[in-house]
Parts: sequence; C-alpha cells; structure tokens
Amino acid sequence: MATAAVAATPYTERRRRTGELRRRRTFARELLDFYGALLGVQEQAYEQAISARPPARALVAYVAEMVVPAVVDVSLAAGPAKLRDAVALRLESTDPCEFVAAWIHGDDQTLVDRFLARASVGPVLEALGSEAAAACEGVRDQLHCPDCGGPPQLSFFALPAEDLASGGRFLLCARCQGSWGYARMTCPGCGEDSSSRLQIFSEEGTASGERGSVVRGLEGRLGDHRVSEDKPVFPHIRIEACDSCRRYLLSIDLAADPTAVPVVDELAALPLDLYARERGFSKIIPNLMGF
Ligand SMILES: [Zn+2]
Ligand SMILES: [Zn+2]
Repeated sequence: MATAAVAATPYTERRRRTGELRRRRTFARELLDFYGALLGVQEQAYEQAISARPPARALVAYVAEMVVPAVVDVSLAAGPAKLRDAVALRLESTDPCEFVAAWIHGDDQTLVDRFLARASVGPVLEALGSEAAAACEGVRDQLHCPDCGGPPQLSFFALPAEDLASGGRFLLCARCQGSWGYARMTCPGCGEDSSSRLQIFSEEGTASGERGSVVRGLEGRLGDHRVSEDKPVFPHIRIEACDSCRRYLLSIDLAADPTAVPVVDELAALPLDLYARERGFSKIIPNLMGF
C-alpha cells in the first residue's frame, strides 16, 4: 500500500480534481457532473462505514441496505438517461444483495449491476480496510490486488518523493482502491514483459520516458479543447497495451502532473479509451462509468 490512494480523506482530493477537470474537459463534463454527484454519496457512505464498522461477514447486507439506496437515488437524479432507465428497470426485479455479492465474488455482471455494486461497495471497502477486503474473493497475485483480489483499474507513476518501491509504478485496484507496486514495462493483464509485445501510446507532443508510439488523430476528437496546437490535453496519461492478451489500461504519471488524481483523471480520458478500442484492445476492466 502506498501513496495518495490511502490518504486520510480520499474524497476531498477526488472532489477537487473532478471540479478542475470539469472546467477543463468539456467533452467529459456530463460524465464528471454525474461523478461529482456520486462522490457526495460515496463520501457519506465512507464516513458512515468508518463509524458503523460493520463486520466483514455482514458486508453484503450492510452495503445493500445502507449504501445502494443512495447510489440508486443519485443515479436516477443525475445519471445519464440510459443508466437511469436501466437502474429503474433493474430494481423492479432484483434484491440489491445479489449484485453486491456478485461484485464481491468477482462474478460476471451486466454494466448496470456492476455500476450499482461497485459504486456502493467501493467506499465501504475503502473505509473498512484490509479485514473487509480480505473477505472479497479473487486471486491474490501480482496481477490482482493483494488486499481484495480485485483487478487493476489503472497504472500510475508516483511522485519521486513517494517512490519507495518497485521503481515508482503502481496498479490501483478497481474494487477497494488499494494499490500495489508493479514492474515497469510489464503487462498488468497477463504479465507479458517482452518489450516487442508491449505498446505505449501517448498523445502527440507528450514526452514519454519509455519507447512507444504516438497517438495521432486525437485532435479531431478533442475539438477545440486543446488550449493550443502544441499543448496536449493528456500530457500525463498514456495507453499501455499488450499484443499478447490484447488488453490495455491507462497509466497516469503524477510527476508530469502532480495535481492529477489517478482515479478521476482516468475517468475523464475517454478519447484515449476510444483510441485504444479502435486499435482492437479491450480494457482489463472498464472503469466505474463503464469505459
Ligand atoms: Zn483491492
Ligand atoms: Zn498482456
């Protein structure tokens, strides 16, 4: 465990960053507005779980009863139309315990089930720490979170001052937000470390310390969001893709932008996701918003 992912008040930073990116990334504004509203609910669930301290064996029932209703409400009030319809339909026929348990067990889920479960379970796991994380199912190895067995959502390079292990590269868990050190130039999806099988794509005009390709053709998608022609929108984010498993994730370099909050910046980098998908790669796990 290391770095900002375990800061005392993770939600403060997430809210700050969401507000910043909302102003700067008009292409992601709708998504960030919803995420900002959801953060309010998650922060409350986080604080509530810290004082309630439900035991690990009661995790599913606690989340289903105490958190899911508020996540449903904010989704119906502020979510995109497609999500609103899916959430309303889903709740007519389901006990929330089912989709919460499925997420904790690592089962396959529909987008809407996974969204509801994940948005609700995340802050509680974050609040309760390793004992609750240990109750989650999943493989514990380098490709999965050592605390809960969840898959990596993203990769990040820590600030040099925080660089105490593993050459500064970390993976962030999609389930409990824990992080673990991981070798550079190694695929977090399958462990491939032959550099000829790994591809890095960065936006044109972005300096990358390691070999890789340059993302071209993004400008058209970003419209006039670029402040100037030579200033990249994502100077601190790159796509790390693997030819062996055909998967990718986004990697956030905090040294290139110390104000970044990996979990927020990753959500607001849709054009990079689209680019990777067009090249035939699929994300190791879609992020909270389904991209
Ligand atoms: Zn985890
Ligand atoms: Zn791979």
